[in-house]
Amino acid sequence: MKKHNFNAGPSILPREVIEDTAKAILDFNGIGLSLMEISHRSKDFQPVVDEAVALFKEILNIPDGYSVIFLGGGASLEFCMVPYNFLEKKAAYLNTGTWAKKAMKEAKAFGEVVEVASSADANYTFIPKGYTVPADVDYFHITTNNTIFGTEIKHDIDVNVPVIADMSSDIFSRPVDVSKYICIYGGAQKNLAPAGVTFVIVKNDALGKVTRHIPTMLNYQTHIDGGSMFNTPPVVPIYSALLTLRWIKAQGGVKEMERRAIERADMLYSEIDRNKLFVGTAAPEDRSRMNLCFVMAPEYKELEADFQKFATERGMVGIKGHRSVGGFRASCYNAMPKESVQALIDCMREFEKLH
Ligand SMILES: *Cc1c(COP(=O)(O)O)cnc(C)c1O
Repeated sequence: MKKHNFNAGPSILPREVIEDTAKAILDFNGIGLSLMEISHRSKDFQPVVDEAVALFKEILNIPDGYSVIFLGGGASLEFCMVPYNFLEKKAAYLNTGTWAKKAMKEAKAFGEVVEVASSADANYTFIPKGYTVPADVDYFHITTNNTIFGTEIKHDIDVNVPVIADMSSDIFSRPVDVSKYICIYGGAQKNLAPAGVTFVIVKNDALGKVTRHIPTMLNYQTHIDGGSMFNTPPVVPIYSALLTLRWIKAQGGVKEMERRAIERADMLYSEIDRNKLFVGTAAPEDRSRMNLCFVMAPEYKELEADFQKFATERGMVGIKGHRSVGGFRASCYNAMPKESVQALIDCMREFEKLH
């Protein structure tokens, strides 16, 4: 049976990325050695990092004066590296969910943290608006896509302070005006690569402004100077990321990724809204295109386990909602074909007919 992969992360990647990674693990570029058993500093691997950085800059149209680095530690380590490198006195955070909260918690160890707004009281079903960011903060931190709660800031915001964004789960799903940010980071395992590599885009002249001592490995400058090679980087995930970047470019870039994301989201949200058995959990204007969350309508609540089973039997994978929301979450990252979204919709319709 064909599996439709709606996993939230690690998650679906283009099939050719997986196949070409597998080939490189057996024999990298025909050199007779595995990608896993050669030096990261070798003449065979260096071009991988160089091309990945170049494609990152090309596809996202990153202006001069920014660096792209690949690190270990996941987005969770960035929750700490960001304030280490940028927080001198005070930072502002928008509390839009579990990940935003974790980022805020780490920042509190480094200075004053202002929570400018929060949707915690509504179980993070919407993105707060109309808030004021204090003018004297070192930066304003946002989580553009809230993977767990299915809300998304789908545009670049305008504020008068430097912006830093966790884009773990929506990077490369739309064009981004990178010049509006001093730092964009994310774990690659949602939309780019297998787990193990973190990407960070940093504005070079935003660094070096904090007075504290930064441990070598936690200092972005170390990794910029070292070209992501200060220590051994996660070579296999970086190679897969390169393959995904080539794939994105060949498909038509982030504009095309955005078009597909909108198409998939329109298809599935229309069905959620039409089908009497289901209701969406996020405020319509803030609905995520990447993680589409829905629950059983109150009068059909007892059918939740039945639908889970029904869908699983028809090849749907990973649609169980996160425990903090319940119900269902269909994650539709870049590599998700619309045929899989249609298969889920067919399931929802068939199930509705039975009830
Ligand atoms: C998955 C996720 C994280 C955590 O990433 P790790 O790489 O596991 O640390 C952080 N932020 C967002 C928005 C995520 O989706």
